[in-house]
Amino acid sequence: MADDQSDSKFSRRDFLEVSSGALAGAGVTSVTSMFAQDQSPNGAAKPGSDRSTSDPGPTNPTLDSQNPDSGNSPPTDAGGVQTFKYPFSFAHKRLHQGGWSREVTVRELAVSTTLAGVDMRLTPGGVRELHWHTAAEWAYMLYGSARITAIDNDGKGFVADVKKDDLWYFPTGIPHSIQGLNPDGAEFLLVFDDGNFSEFATVLLSDWMAHTPKDVLAKTLGVPLKAFDKLPQKELFIFQGQVPGPLEADQKAAAGTHGLSPSDFAFRTLQLPVTKRTKGGEVRVVDSSQFKVSTRIAAAIVTVHPGGIRELHWHQNADEWQYYFAGKGRMTVFATGGRARTMDFETGDVGYVQQTLPHYIENTGNTDLKFLEMFRSSFYQDLALSEWLTHIPPELVMAHLNIDKATLDAIPRDEPVIMPE
Ligand code: MN
Ligand code: MN
Repeated sequence: MADDQSDSKFSRRDFLEVSSGALAGAGVTSVTSMFAQDQSPNGAAKPGSDRSTSDPGPTNPTLDSQNPDSGNSPPTDAGGVQTFKYPFSFAHKRLHQGGWSREVTVRELAVSTTLAGVDMRLTPGGVRELHWHTAAEWAYMLYGSARITAIDNDGKGFVADVKKDDLWYFPTGIPHSIQGLNPDGAEFLLVFDDGNFSEFATVLLSDWMAHTPKDVLAKTLGVPLKAFDKLPQKELFIFQGQVPGPLEADQKAAAGTHGLSPSDFAFRTLQLPVTKRTKGGEVRVVDSSQFKVSTRIAAAIVTVHPGGIRELHWHQNADEWQYYFAGKGRMTVFATGGRARTMDFETGDVGYVQQTLPHYIENTGNTDLKFLEMFRSSFYQDLALSEWLTHIPPELVMAHLNIDKATLDAIPRDEPVIMPE
């Protein structure tokens, strides 16, 4: 909104005051592009049409080729829109014996205030040490297999093995661990319900013990002081351990005197039927209606085939945090007040869309585009342009868009999610 006046000698008010007769005469497309050009200080010159788009100074051809819609944006892009992309490739990788991790939080991607992400690798036997945090943790297994442990609010143990495409969820303050299994450990994506989260600020068992007087440890656990002679002096965070034995043995040991937890903190995504499948792709929605414990984070797992598009839509209830697993795509976020920006995405990128802002995701490659849509909510919610236009009086839509009845009748009426239907 702030750019509305500063960018434009042809103000939004003037634009809106163009009579309907003039609109019809000029045709909406040409008026729209005239407006869009005016939003750009240098006009929206087409590449090669003049010297305006030439770039004779230093360039970074690799990054430029990965971000064609930044260097040569569609003419519909206009005004200042806060950056909504951050590649995990830019994030600092924190290396340990046993694995590594890297995070994308509000500190890396300023717009991402509601959710943060961590990409973590564990070797076979590598342990993300026993810990908890103030944020809730939702996870997607990207590769391999791992054993996860927790206790629930009644102190009952939970131990499960998870493999590629499985999920887990640990609520605030629930202590947990993750360990890589044979043959090659695991890599997974963690999503936290707080953009300000940091994996550097978690309650770690080793860190806590190292900062508690040993006589207090002895007294509280009822064991001799000398039992703690070999305590780690500082936090472990990730360390190399032995690959654990059979799951059943660990579950039996964890049951202890309380029995195992009735809560299932893991979720087998591929056992869930596809929520919607079209010629253009498919989507699986996983929220607390299926994954009971996941009360603060909801997800949609989306595949868009080459040539397909995740249709124009918005989310009423939450910001959207995205992770791109595979393929290439582009997204335009329309940010109101004549502002819009298009950015390109590929494997390992994080994207973000603020609550209610309209957007689409188009597959721009020749392989499947696969990504996660994550929301800080117990439930998934969206509305689509097609759904909107086909569930209000047709005359009203035609009067707004100068389209005929045949065009309106051809628009899908049952939210396809991914086009073509
Ligand atoms: Mn955790
Ligand atoms: Mn969306």
